[in-house]
Amino acid sequence: MTDPLIRHIDTKGVISKTDLPVCDYAANPYVGCTHACRYCYASFMKRFTNHPEPWGTFLDVKHWPEIRDPSKYAGKEIFIGSVTDPYNPQEAEFGRTRELLEQLRGSGAKLSIATKSDLVIRDLDLIREFPDARVSWSINTLDESFRADMDSAVTIVRRLEAMRRFHDAGVRTTCFISPIFPGITDPREIILRARDRCNLVWLENLNLRGSFKADIMGYISERHPDLVSLYDRIYGGRDMSYWSDLDTEMAGFCREQGLEYVTNDDSMSRPFDDPPIVVNYFFHERIRKSSKNGGA
Ligand code: SF4
Repeated sequence: MTDPLIRHIDTKGVISKTDLPVCDYAANPYVGCTHACRYCYASFMKRFTNHPEPWGTFLDVKHWPEIRDPSKYAGKEIFIGSVTDPYNPQEAEFGRTRELLEQLRGSGAKLSIATKSDLVIRDLDLIREFPDARVSWSINTLDESFRADMDSAVTIVRRLEAMRRFHDAGVRTTCFISPIFPGITDPREIILRARDRCNLVWLENLNLRGSFKADIMGYISERHPDLVSLYDRIYGGRDMSYWSDLDTEMAGFCREQGLEYVTNDDSMSRPFDDPPIVVNYFFHERIRKSSKNGGA
């Protein structure tokens, strides 16, 4: 990949109220994301950026005035990285996520950080000072060549190692199995690799409503021609049976493995050393019945 276009911008702030169900506030120290995932759901942001360049090839580095009253976030959940990766490679140089953490230090805010990087290890000592902090890594394959086809972030091995470092340090971790590519992602093998180092597993299906649909369908027909009819059924014909079957299989797998399989995340109330709970977020409003029944 060629060097991304970097621009510095002054912003009024970095934290904003959000309607996201999992948090009170969202904070994004950058605009854009150089991990350039081919399925990026945040790429809709491009239309607000004045960038003609493709998503993944530019990064705006935000500079905001110092947060005046950090204590107002005490007890509130702040999600860092809802539309960017706060630990993109450029963070090593610009340190805007580090600066945000420094400004929130001692505020009592509950942090939730999402990344595909291990640069976050740099800030482990700072993050662990926050009450109920949790860090999630997206992992949707153990196959490094498929990973490299889909994103420019660090290897899966490095993500898993970072997860282990945080878990060993007593920080809650999430293995975010997303997006699940039908016929390619095997959530079971990922859970078996990550279960000793995470408190929570999230499952989320691949959604192909965005502008990247044609690119992903092209990739499937070129690299996985045997899966074309499956993808056509799911993303052309809106056939839900793949997800309901996977839901049933995951319920059975979790039962065998002694893992709880649920549709609501209450992991923060669980003892740290409990096995991870597995939360099914795929089309949950439509297939909740089978999840609740444990897919029996
Ligand atoms: S890491 Fe997240 S925000 Fe960045 S390109 Fe990938 S999906 Fe988009």
